[in-house]
Amino acid sequence: MTEAEAQDLIARVQKANDTIERAIKRIDELTAENLTLRLALEQYEEPVEDDEPEDCSWCRGCGEGDYDGAACRKCHGTGVEPVEKESDV
Ligand SMILES: [Zn+2]
Repeated sequence: MTEAEAQDLIARVQKANDTIERAIKRIDELTAENLTLRLALEQYEEPVEDDEPEDCSWCRGCGEGDYDGAACRKCHGTGVEPVEKESDV
């Protein structure tokens, strides 16, 4: 091996080392990002309802029935449009 070849080899090894160092640094950054994301995910609380509940079409969301003190016959006073099909109500 000539001296020039040796120098070239050393330069290549140093370049490779730099690349590896940069890669390790990037992995560290990504790991930190990952941890942040994981923490954020752990602290994230799932909403109880996926979408907004619809106002009852019968009482328009007030939950009141035909007369004072009566509950709506469709939503039974909840004011929310029932999702399930009406059975024997
Ligand atoms: Zn109703």
